[in-house]
Amino acid sequence: MHFCAFSLRRSLSTMATKTFDYLVVGGGSGGIASGRRAAEFGISVGLVEFKRLGGTCVNVGCVPKKVMFNTAMHAEMIHDHKNYGFDVQSQGFKWSTIKESRDAYVKRLNGIYETNLGKSKVEYIDGYAKFVDNKVIEVNGQRYTGNHIMIATGGKPVVPDIPGAEHGITSDGFFDLADLPKKTAVVGAGYIAVELAGILKELGSDVSLFIRREQALRNFDEMISENVTKTLEESGVNVVKKSTSKTLTKESDGTMTYETTAGVFKGFDCVLWAVGRTPNTEGMGLDKTGVQVDQRGNIVVDEFQNTSAKNIYALGDVCGKALLTPVAIKAGRKLAHRLFNNETSLKMDYTYIPTVVFSHPPIGTVGLTQAEAEKEYGADNIKVYQSSWVGMYFAVTERKQRTVMKLICTGSEQKVVGLHMQGMGCDEMLQGFGVAIKMGATKADFDDTVAIHPTSSEELVTMR
Ligand code: FAD
Ligand code: NDP
Repeated sequence: MHFCAFSLRRSLSTMATKTFDYLVVGGGSGGIASGRRAAEFGISVGLVEFKRLGGTCVNVGCVPKKVMFNTAMHAEMIHDHKNYGFDVQSQGFKWSTIKESRDAYVKRLNGIYETNLGKSKVEYIDGYAKFVDNKVIEVNGQRYTGNHIMIATGGKPVVPDIPGAEHGITSDGFFDLADLPKKTAVVGAGYIAVELAGILKELGSDVSLFIRREQALRNFDEMISENVTKTLEESGVNVVKKSTSKTLTKESDGTMTYETTAGVFKGFDCVLWAVGRTPNTEGMGLDKTGVQVDQRGNIVVDEFQNTSAKNIYALGDVCGKALLTPVAIKAGRKLAHRLFNNETSLKMDYTYIPTVVFSHPPIGTVGLTQAEAEKEYGADNIKVYQSSWVGMYFAVTERKQRTVMKLICTGSEQKVVGLHMQGMGCDEMLQGFGVAIKMGATKADFDDTVAIHPTSSEELVTMR
């Protein structure tokens, strides 16, 4: 009798709901940024995460990807050492060396994120959050409620629905690879396909890139789609066009055979699906709330990140718009200011978001593509400036690589509404131009700026 009363009391106490001013679901880029900023305004904040802190970007995205991009940059430049006078004998490449230091770096970041949550007085709740209703969330049997609840649960890679798809990996699995695959099939035509195909190729894998149409990065400016496809081919990637997946078969020797509409391709030890991402909205009890999702499962929000349920907000990849870390961070911080610092009209501005694809060479782009500008302003009302040249770095090398740049201007004042480029250094070049374009710079403002010589970026202020 005594025991029963005790256990009843205990279970009631564990079920007692804990309340926060702000309850964040998801400890990735958006969740952490928003939760920590909100805590600066002196409110109580809880943050729920069931995997490693830092989310996609830190664990299986931007961060480990950039380490591998940097690794591939070394491989790329080794080709030029001889021409620059260095007698460097390559001792080969050891994947495990960089994997170990990369993993250790990511682990350090996980720790730093946890420490920072503590320093910001954000309570970290380790577990999977499920909605009980519009106000209550359950994690490991414990209930929590927030006066304001924010969902930043990100997304996960899509695996195509074809027989044998389970033999392939996704970008998540790329970061688990214990060694460089000898022969890789990368399937997809977006950011991840282009970046990972480039990395694997530069590091020495025999890479085929399977795309459904004629060009990779089809939604980018035409100049970029064309040039990225060409540079991939020139680097030795076998770009298989008009190829739609049919089946993937694991053979008795362990290799994989990939059947597509463009033919049958054999002998792969790695097949990597990079065909897009899908939001993490299933299984977390959203059906018990008034939060609306669209046909693809993305949470529907207005421009202030409000969902269709009162006091529930969503941002970042889970909303399916501009899937980029700085976008999730900015939206998260702005929301914190709006909700807890009385900045009632503050919202994320989704125009002129600069973005880089870490291809070889990298791509930088901001604003409208030429096709979008023509549609919006009419072909007669835009002026396009375009350049293509072999940069000075390649003047003394056998290996040649072109840089391409395009400026799209509109109206009599020639406001710059689009900037697109691919070439060595374009990744670091873009941010400053992003500021100018966001401020409304015109072609005359670009021309009035004194060039920095000799650089590739000077081309952008000297185009005629
Ligand atoms: P995430 O960072 O995905 O965080 C969501 C978190 O929520 C996850 O940790 C997840 O475990 C957690 N979660 C989910 N459901 C629950 C639940 N029910 N309860 C508790 N926790 C939950 N962007 C760039 O800007 N630059 C790049 O170079 C770049 N490279 C990339 C490379 C790759 C391979 C990939 C996959 C992505 C890359 N991105 C890049 C995109 C970037 O990673 C995302 O846009 C960003 O991480 C989105 O942040 P988020 O907060 O919306 O979601
Ligand atoms: P993306 O949306 O960039 O590209 C996926 C592409 O794959 C589609 O555009 C489509 O191209 C193709 N595709 C779709 N379905 C299939 C299929 N069944 N078979 C073959 N190809 C298919 O998605 P990613 O997964 O590459 O990246 C997700 C997002 O993550 C990006 O949009 C980006 O926002 C972010 N990211 C950012 C990075 C950065 O900032 N550097 C790096 C990596 C990711 P098509 O229609 O032409 O066939």
